[in-house]
Amino acid sequence: MICNFPRTYDFIIVGGGATGLGVAIDAASRGYTTLLLEQSDFAKGTSSRSTKLIHGGVRYLQQGNVPLVLEALRERGLLLQNAPHLVRSQAFIVPNYDWWEVPFYAVGLKLYDMLAGKLGLGRSHLLSRDETLKQIPTLEPKGLKGGVLYYDGQFDDSRLAVNLAQTAVDYGATVLNYMKVISLKKTSGVVSGVTAMDMETGEKHEINGRVVVNATGVFAEDVIRMDNPQSSRIIAPSQGVHLVLDKKFLPGRTALMVPRTDDGRVLFAVPWLDKVVVGTTDTAIPEPSLEPRAYDEEIDFILKHAKRYLTKDPERSDVLSVFVGIRPLIKARDVKNTAKLSRESVLLTSKSGLVTITGGKWTTYRKMAQDTVNKAAVIGGLDERPCTTEHMKIHGWLSHVDESDPLHFYGSDMIDLKRLINDKPDLGQKLHKELPYVKGEVVWAVRKEMARTVEDVLSRRTRSLLLNASASMDSAPEIARIMAAEMGFDRKWQEIQVSQYIKLAQGYLPDRGTGDLHACKGHQ
Ligand SMILES: Cc1cc2nc3c(=O)[nH]c(=O)nc-3n(C[C@H](O)[C@H](O)[C@H](O)COP(=O)(O)OP(=O)(O)OC[C@H]3O[C@@H](n4cnc5c(N)ncnc54)[C@H](O)[C@@H]3O)c2cc1C
Repeated sequence: MICNFPRTYDFIIVGGGATGLGVAIDAASRGYTTLLLEQSDFAKGTSSRSTKLIHGGVRYLQQGNVPLVLEALRERGLLLQNAPHLVRSQAFIVPNYDWWEVPFYAVGLKLYDMLAGKLGLGRSHLLSRDETLKQIPTLEPKGLKGGVLYYDGQFDDSRLAVNLAQTAVDYGATVLNYMKVISLKKTSGVVSGVTAMDMETGEKHEINGRVVVNATGVFAEDVIRMDNPQSSRIIAPSQGVHLVLDKKFLPGRTALMVPRTDDGRVLFAVPWLDKVVVGTTDTAIPEPSLEPRAYDEEIDFILKHAKRYLTKDPERSDVLSVFVGIRPLIKARDVKNTAKLSRESVLLTSKSGLVTITGGKWTTYRKMAQDTVNKAAVIGGLDERPCTTEHMKIHGWLSHVDESDPLHFYGSDMIDLKRLINDKPDLGQKLHKELPYVKGEVVWAVRKEMARTVEDVLSRRTRSLLLNASASMDSAPEIARIMAAEMGFDRKWQEIQVSQYIKLAQGYLPDRGTGDLHACKGHQ
């Protein structure tokens, strides 16, 4: 059966990652009627699988891409002001093992400070060998000369995505998860809407829109082909792997940044939610998928570098979770190594009026959204209205954030969440002794954050899957029970949910890598 949505939207946005959600906020807050459709859950794609940094990109500075760094540093500063409950300043140390590195990185990072201007997070400075080891006691001391300390931002990506969805709704947008766009509608050769399928019921919906924005990240080509089946390939997908380790490998609050790995990448080891995230890789892959898996070689590569820089050598058995994100890098002629492809965003308009925005960074989602709405409004024949997101407070914004409160990342929603938990003491119980979450957060996720599956709760409303894949599997039956009671589902639903979740979470255990990297080397 095909149902018709009763109204014509000014904007229909396809894709509920950072980019699509940013476009939805921007369009709705300019007063355009806005609908966002996400085939799975918000941030199911790359937007829940980042390195969790809100950064200017020291690496892009090394590459001489000053405009990109300048824009990202500005957005970093704005985001820290607009979402202080989820974005915070993070100190990093670049350790120096050669004398020449000390002035080289000190000058580079001073330039980084200068580019940030008034929106800087703190001044970079040189550290002696002793000071460096005091900040990172587990740093390899052999041959260490000193370090350079600098500041960047750090955040919780999928929590920010959920708050962006809520912000869009606060401004009047309709945002739907589990609604997949399966084709585009055209009138006289011009894109005039979409056909979408409700992934829970199988129902199809025809929806009219004045302009359709394709914000499907690494899947952008699929939607472009719905518009023009003959279009050539523009995206070179490349995956990046992260390992999550216990905090003992990097105690304290300072992160480690290695500017040059064996394959010329930057490697980070960053404290995150009381664990350590280490990554990443840059491996060309043949096809994007919603659940990419790490190759064994990628896990080994990260462990090898972590061992080189840390005194406590992490082994495979120490890895609590492995998560993988895919970059939609834009193809360039004669560039074989994906690490050399541009990280900038691209904004394209097809002859039939489909607007595509892909690439870029989480850090710059707001500016990408602004540029997209400016362009899409013209394509859709809408009256032009100014962007208002620069100083817009994101849902949950708080003037003072107390990081010692385990619920602080809910921001202003924390008051209502605590009321819910206090009203029913059972909801204050922990879900698992190895995880920092309580049962009330599951109820909250269903009632207030559009969580529909056990995976939505364990992967993106809480970060259980990333913090400890094995513990998250143990807690799946209890999550399913709480969700079923909230949503009116039966025991069968719970069983299916749990078994689907266990299957998925097994892919986050380090010994379940897909094995053979050589099979896809030809695509590099
Ligand atoms: C390994 C890695 C580390 C990174 N680390 C950082 C970092 O530390 N800091 C930073 O700033 N940036 C980082 N980035 C970049 C950042 O994560 C991405 O730029 C950003 O998440 C992309 O968001 P997106 O919305 O464009 O894509 P996605 O998050 O992939 O969202 C696209 C969405 O479209 C949906 N979709 C696809 N097809 C359809 C359809 N037909 N109908 C409906 N929905 C559809 C998908 O389900 C998906 O949810 C990193 C990227 C990678 C790969």
